[in-house]
Amino acid sequence: MRILLQFPEGLKQKALEHAKNLEKEGHEVFISASPTFGACDLAIDEAKNIKADKLIHYGHAEFHKVDFNVEYVPYFIDAPTTLLPEALETLKEYKTISIVTTIQHIHQLDHVRKFFESNGKKVVIGKPYGFAKQPGQILGCDIGSAANIDNIVDAHVYFGGGMFHPLGALLNTKKPFFVIEPFENKVARIDGFRETYRKRSKGKILGALKAKNIGILVSTKNGQHNMNLAKIIKQKAEGSGLNAEILVANTFDFMALNNMMEFDAFVNTACPRIGVDDTDRTRVPLLSANELMEVLKMKAELLAMQK
Ligand code: SF4
Repeated sequence: MRILLQFPEGLKQKALEHAKNLEKEGHEVFISASPTFGACDLAIDEAKNIKADKLIHYGHAEFHKVDFNVEYVPYFIDAPTTLLPEALETLKEYKTISIVTTIQHIHQLDHVRKFFESNGKKVVIGKPYGFAKQPGQILGCDIGSAANIDNIVDAHVYFGGGMFHPLGALLNTKKPFFVIEPFENKVARIDGFRETYRKRSKGKILGALKAKNIGILVSTKNGQHNMNLAKIIKQKAEGSGLNAEILVANTFDFMALNNMMEFDAFVNTACPRIGVDDTDRTRVPLLSANELMEVLKMKAELLAMQK
């Protein structure tokens, strides 16, 4: 069988080993060298171009159905749980907590839950919206496991590596938010970042008020493609007297975007985290669809006041 292998950045160091094992089984093997952001970003075009029979995607669970033969190989990481007693002390004033994690640590969720329950906490494990598949699992674009139960818990707890995932969940919940980061040996409360992001969003909206030409970003990645939303945004922007064009790329390169000097603002319809994490990388405001709607509303109000 001809197989294309695809690894997220953290697992690319294992690519050769996996390729050699599959070659020993008699397969013809190729390795995708493109950057990989998630199961939203399957290398299907590359697989089709090299006439592969199958794509093996490592490290992520299925995102949604695609019209290609894809095998998902999850990659679980055993994170140390030595910080749990410290976390228990930090969380002493909260009776009911949620616990969320990523697919890499989902196999440890039960152990973490049992630890808190045996120490007097009520633990609620939420369900994701749909892109994430397991209860308690979060993705940058599916924080349902926390947001769905925000009104019934006293605090949220993220267990796992990195800040990418908890920051997404943080922005869509209102309760105190704690992180147990076993690799940095850190237990921390992070909901102070909500205000930082709110101010940043306000700054982008105000910065886009004078924009006349809007570039709407549409990614061709299988799980990030949102042309329908882009067309609605274009219509709304044009209805408010702005020029709007849809800009298409697989992975958006910020230098290329910054070279498009005619645009005064960009609107993201791809991975929702682009507008949050990469907001300082564009020359002009990089807005979400909701932020653009706020810009259009404020423009209309300003216009009405001038009449
Ligand atoms: S957060 Fe972005 S990169 Fe991650 S799975 Fe969702 S769309 Fe893909």
